Amino acid sequence: MEKLHITSNIAPVIVRTLNGYFAVSGNQWFPVTAETELSNIEWENTSSIPPKTIDPDIHLVKSSDGKTDYAVKIQDGIPTCTCMGFSFHRHCRHIDKIYGKQE
Ligand SMILES: [Zn+2]
Repeated sequence: MEKLHITSNIAPVIVRTLNGYFAVSGNQWFPVTAETELSNIEWENTSSIPPKTIDPDIHLVKSSDGKTDYAVKIQDGIPTCTCMGFSFHRHCRHIDKIYGKQE
């Protein structure tokens, strides 16, 4: 059986629904067969990917689905982030990651 590759920050689980079986990780749903087990799934845990520092004050942090890099910029000790969550809450998990807080 071909391995299903899931990139996320939440460990996938297999769920059975009226519409069939799915591997679910956070808000990502992947249709799978009834025979699929967790051992058939290759999970890349994005929360274990370290931030990439491209400038002393600019750090790139992977989005939870691994598809996007968000830039956390620290100016005069005040962090900002390019993600949606930061624009709403003025705070986000990417900034937490730079400051070494666990999710
Ligand atoms: Zn962010």
